[in-house]
Formats: sequence, C-alpha cells, structure tokens
Amino acid sequence: MSDIIRLLPDSVANQIAAGEVVQRPASAVKELLENTIDAGATDVKLIIKDSGKLLIQVTDNGCGMSERDARMCFERHATSKIQKADDLLAIRTLGFRGEALASIASIAQVELKTKRHEDEIGTSILIDGSEFKGQSPVQCQNGTTVSVKNLFYNVPARRNFLKSNTLELKYIIEEFFRVALVHPDITFTFYNQDKILFQLPTGNLKQRIINLYSSSYTQRLIPVEQRTALVNISGFIGKPEFAKKSRGEQYFFTNGRFIKSAYLHHAVDGAFKELIPDDSVPSYFIFMEVDPQTIDVNIHPTKTEINFQDIKSIYAILHAAVKQSIGKFNLAPSLDFETEQSMNLPLADENRPVRQPVITVNPDFNPFEKKTQPQTSFSFPLQNKPSIQGWRDLYDTNFQPTEKSPPPDTNGGLFSSPPADAPDESFSLGKKGTQVQNSYIITHTRTGVIIIDQQHAHERVLYERFLEDKRLEGTPGQHQLIPQTITLSPDDAQLFHEWKDHFEKLGFDMNDFGKGSFVIHAIPMNLETSDIGGFIESVLESLKFPGKDHTTNQSQLLAKTLAKKLSIKRGERLHQEVMDALIENLYACKAPGVTPDGKPTMWVISYDELNKKFKI
Ligand code: ADP
Ligand code: MG
Repeated sequence: MSDIIRLLPDSVANQIAAGEVVQRPASAVKELLENTIDAGATDVKLIIKDSGKLLIQVTDNGCGMSERDARMCFERHATSKIQKADDLLAIRTLGFRGEALASIASIAQVELKTKRHEDEIGTSILIDGSEFKGQSPVQCQNGTTVSVKNLFYNVPARRNFLKSNTLELKYIIEEFFRVALVHPDITFTFYNQDKILFQLPTGNLKQRIINLYSSSYTQRLIPVEQRTALVNISGFIGKPEFAKKSRGEQYFFTNGRFIKSAYLHHAVDGAFKELIPDDSVPSYFIFMEVDPQTIDVNIHPTKTEINFQDIKSIYAILHAAVKQSIGKFNLAPSLDFETEQSMNLPLADENRPVRQPVITVNPDFNPFEKKTQPQTSFSFPLQNKPSIQGWRDLYDTNFQPTEKSPPPDTNGGLFSSPPADAPDESFSLGKKGTQVQNSYIITHTRTGVIIIDQQHAHERVLYERFLEDKRLEGTPGQHQLIPQTITLSPDDAQLFHEWKDHFEKLGFDMNDFGKGSFVIHAIPMNLETSDIGGFIESVLESLKFPGKDHTTNQSQLLAKTLAKKLSIKRGERLHQEVMDALIENLYACKAPGVTPDGKPTMWVISYDELNKKFKI
C-alpha cells in the first residue's frame, strides 16, 4: 500500500487556522485594528457594511509596508514582530503569530493598499480566498488600507452560523471599544453603513470613555491608581450607585491588551460588596502594566486570556486599590474628578483615622417602661456630649423652636464661608446641619455643600452598626432585665427558627421553647423597643418579602431589613443634636456615600461648582 500522509495545501491550512482566528466579522475587525496599533498609527478609520459581512475596511496612517512585505504579510506565520522564540518573552505588540492576514485572506476577498513614508509610490494587492490575484503600483496616502469583502463567501457553513446583523454589529462595537479605550491618543472614526457611529478625538482616558459612552460618565467614574513593583494599576471604576444589572462595562487591559479574567473580576467585584446589590455588576476600566516576562499571552489563539506568574498578589493589590478608591471618592457623588486633585475633602483623607462607631448602653433601660410613641428607637452615641437615650426622645412632632432650643446656626453654619486660616475641623460638624423639608440635612465642609438624605443616611449608619455588633464577640447584645416571652404564629415561628443564627449574630439571644414560644434574653445593643414580639414579627414579615433584594448573605439581609425598619424616615422633624449626631455617625461609616441598597445618602456640591453656577 502506498503512503497516505500528505502535507495540507496552504490554502486549506489557512482556512483551518481561520476557524480559530476569525470566528465572525468582529474577529477580523479586532485583528485589523490591532495591526494599525502595531504599525504606530495615530489616525484610524473603520468602515463596516452589513455588519462586516459585506465589507470591513480599516485605514491607518502607520508605517506602511514595502512591496515585498505587502506580499509576504499574507503568508502563514509571516510576521515582522518576532524572530526567535526568546522574543516571545518580551512581546509588546498585539500581534506576533503572523496568522491573521493569512487567515482572513483565505476566507474573503482582500485588497491591500499600502505605502511607507519613505516610498514615492504605494502598492496594491488583491487576494481571493488565499489565491493571489495580482499586485500593482498605486498612488495612495502613507499608511495602509485593508479591505475585506464578502467574509466567509467560500465557507457557507460559517456564514450561515453568523448571528443577526444587530448582534454581529454589537460584537464589532465591542472589539472597537477594547482597542479605542487603550489608545485615547489615537483618533478613531467608525462608519457603519456610511454613517458615522463613533468619532473619537484624542484626549485622556476619561475623555475617551465619555466619548464612547456619554457625557453623563463625567459624574460616574472614580480613578484608581496603584504603583507597585509587581504591577502598576491605573484607570477608572464606576461609582457604586451606577452599577448595572447587565454586564458590559468591565474592562481589564494588561500591557495594552484587553484580557478576560474571572479571577481578577472577583477582586474588583468583591471590593464593591455591600455597596451594590448582589445582582449588579460594577463598571471598571482597569489597566495593569506588568513586566512582559511575567505573563504568557500565548495560551489562547485570540489572546484574550493570559497567564500571570503571580496572579494572587495581583489580585490582592487590585482588590485593595479598588477598595481604597471607593472609600476615597464615594463621598463626593457629584464632584467631577477632574478637580479631585485640588479637592481635599477631609473624609477622603487617607491619613484620617477611621473612627469606630461608638455604642452607648443605656443602663436605665427598662423594656417594660411605657414611653410615649413610637416605642422602637435607636440611640445615637454623641461624643463629648450628654448621652442621649434615643433620637426619638429628642424628636417631637410638636417641636417648635423656642428660646431654649438652639436657633438655626446661620452665622457659623451654612451661609458663611470658613475663614481662610480656619483650622481643619470642618468635619467636627457639631450644630452645623440644617433640616429642610423635614427630610434633608444641609451641611458643609471646607470644599463644598453637602445635602444629606436623612432616611438613607440613617439606614447606612444602622446597617454598619448591626454588622459591627456581630463582630463584637463577647458582647452579643443587651441583656433584658427580665427575659421576655414572645409567641409567634406557626409559620413565623418556623421562619424565626430558620433565621435564629442570624438574629443571634446581630445580638439577639433567645431560647426556642417550641409551639411558637421564644424567650428573648437579649436584643441588639442599640435597639430599644418595648414590644419585642411585635418588632420581630414585622422584621419576619419583611424577610418573607424581600422584594427585588437578592442579597445572598443572610446576616446582611437581616441587618439591612433592621436598618430600614428602624431608620429615621423622611418627613420626620429632627432636633439639632440628632442631626449633628447623624452627620457624625454617617461620616464614621466605612461606606458613607450609599445605603446598603446602593442608593446615594448624600449629594456634594463643590464650591467650584457653585462658583461656576454663579459665574464667579
Ligand atoms: P501579526 O500581527 O501577528 O504579525 P498579521 O497577519 O496580523 O500578523 O500581520 C502580518 C504582518 O503584516 C505584520 O507582522 C506586519 O509586519 C504587517 N502588517 C499587517 N498590518 C499592517 C498595517 N496595518 N501596517 C503595517 N504593517 C502591517
Ligand atoms: Mg496582527
């Protein structure tokens, strides 16, 4: 029998390679755009027709190719980017396999026009399904134009597998974003069906993001910056309140290359924990620069997955960097970070020690003592001030300013700007809040005016307090002088039993006596209620219908529920000291800017913005 093993003809080998490299029009767009970057272009034009099925044309003003290179570039494994295996370890270009043009040319009709700056005249080449159709001199601009027509015309199976035009265009736009985000210094124009879809002037990264998305992103982004020996991290994250339910704005780039990494996504996502609902994803545009020797980009044909040598350390650095940025900028939802360098919001001060919320115990507390309504309350610790047993003790529906009550502090408060040499104590804000609409508290810092939503703010304070209590081992709750027995309906009892551990973590201490009876020995430190049974029933009711809340951590869900139940509500008039305590307690929170559900607690208007408004 004769030998049967043969080498595949190049055209077939290229088509097979194309199966890996060019799955859809978007893959060809990616390869062509990457080639323009590698060619050092500063101006790139992308033209698409029929979602890339009819035409993909990319024009650049890069280095161009010589007559010979123009022919060579369509050969398989033809690349100018590496010469020996060692070069792979120092790869800085996007391409290096020399497969893209050969693959594309095997499944489409391709025309290349190219001219180097030093050449008088350019060269044009036609290739049709790997078949060389001719080369001729041509008058053209410096740089390169590659036109890919009728993609997959000779591979009907692939063509038939393509998705709708809308979806294929979406994939193309995605690839375009991945390249455009890394190169804000390059102008890009993207035409779809002869209409301009994107026109991106040069600028910084923030401007590029805004040009790609919308001007509203000015308010949405927080910078991230961290320099270490292992990795330099830079870029932006979206503020928690703008996290979306759908994915799409999550970008990692390593050495200028878009990468996917579920592991590193977890590092960023984890930093947003408790700040955004569980079913939302934060936006991020994060750039990591590492020594090329410490990564392997060669593990995937389309190169979106890479291997890091020390991914665990990068995870930790990234997580910390994102957390730090959230902590720093969370407070200023409306401050444009363009001005952040000069903005020195005391809360954003890294050196400012984090104040632990202080918990006061009311030694005179007697659960059976009847108070005037309402009966559930929560005490605010006030530093250097007489202890107040509960904010509702200060709250009085008939409250009218009298001689005894402090007058609105208009002089040292909102309406005066601090003297230039004022010591930095703008955040010891005693008596500086003013309530409006019985719902908002207006206060100020050295750098801006702050409007606080009293209900949202109090939810945040209580939430952190409850979760904090959990960590105070050994002091689980305040002991009831006389344990109270409560009786619940069978289904409530069942639910209470299921949640028992979580209630206990928050400071409840109880015995289940069966048949719906529970003896309550202790309740959380800060909870003051004479009707524990009624209170627990109403909490259980909320737990039965958590609404759209997908918080998976049950302690958090319970803390959130309790916080919502017990918080000061909008429409409630607050005594000056309660307001001041609320402001102080909010500022002591880990994430003061948002409720546990991710809604804003405050709005900051910088003096710069005010000046602009008044045209000063
Ligand atoms: P790779 O990018 O992996 O080297 P390609 O098939 O994408 O492989 O390109 C092959 C070669 O063709 C490149 O190495 C480069 O020298 C040349 N080339 C491709 N596109 C351009 C371009 N737009 N401008 C200049 N040279 C290009
Ligand atoms: Mg390439």
